[in-house]
Amino acid sequence: MRRRIIAGNWKMNMTKEEAKLFVAEFLPLVESDCEIVLCVPFTDVHRVWKLTRGSSVKVGAQNVAWADKGAFTGEISAEMLKEVGAEYVIIGHSERRAYFGETDETVNMRLKQALKYGLKPIVCVGETLDQREAGKTEEVLAAQIEKGLDGVSGDVILAYEPIWAIGTGKTATPETADETIRFIRARAEKTLGETSILYGGSMNAANAQSLLDMPQIDGGLIGGASLKPKDFATIVNCR
Ligand code: PEP
Repeated sequence: MRRRIIAGNWKMNMTKEEAKLFVAEFLPLVESDCEIVLCVPFTDVHRVWKLTRGSSVKVGAQNVAWADKGAFTGEISAEMLKEVGAEYVIIGHSERRAYFGETDETVNMRLKQALKYGLKPIVCVGETLDQREAGKTEEVLAAQIEKGLDGVSGDVILAYEPIWAIGTGKTATPETADETIRFIRARAEKTLGETSILYGGSMNAANAQSLLDMPQIDGGLIGGASLKPKDFATIVNCR
């Protein structure tokens, strides 16, 4: 089902105390009834869940193991995440792909595991600047979708995150984002059926409305601006 979802990705930011201050400032500013998610570091999941309980804000993690349990040093299982309050999980973020060897195959395994445990996955896809300039955007996205979603059905949220726009201050124009998401939707919905697709990449308080106004863009995945309560609230409260 397509719906407005605004998800923050805190990445490796926010100590216990910083998370507490964020939530205290952010919650009273929320005026929207859209789906709001904070994807926080593992160590913040339980705390943020407790602090937001009873509000419309839900908590997510930024990765999930592909196995139930066992010898996977450094990984966190879906069951562990659910136990501490996570409802959502980001899978295949470009930073995981670039720095930690994540591939479309491991994305697919993590995605199946998230769905098996009832976590709502937010699966990221996106092209590099070189790939866009070489006219390969559609080819790259098609492969990420085909391999990443292989054998998957259910409620999967997708995020189109052009890598050249993440953390760079260089946002895709609303038209480019919309056109690319139209392509992603046509491919992904063959497997998933109607799906919410978010845009991510330097979305901020000033440009969010123009992106969210586009017909193909259902919501946003927000990094930097999700660390600032007022800015994130402005995005959440967009029409
Ligand atoms: C992200 O990391 O998913 C992201 C979109 O980051 P930023 O908003 O900082 O570009």
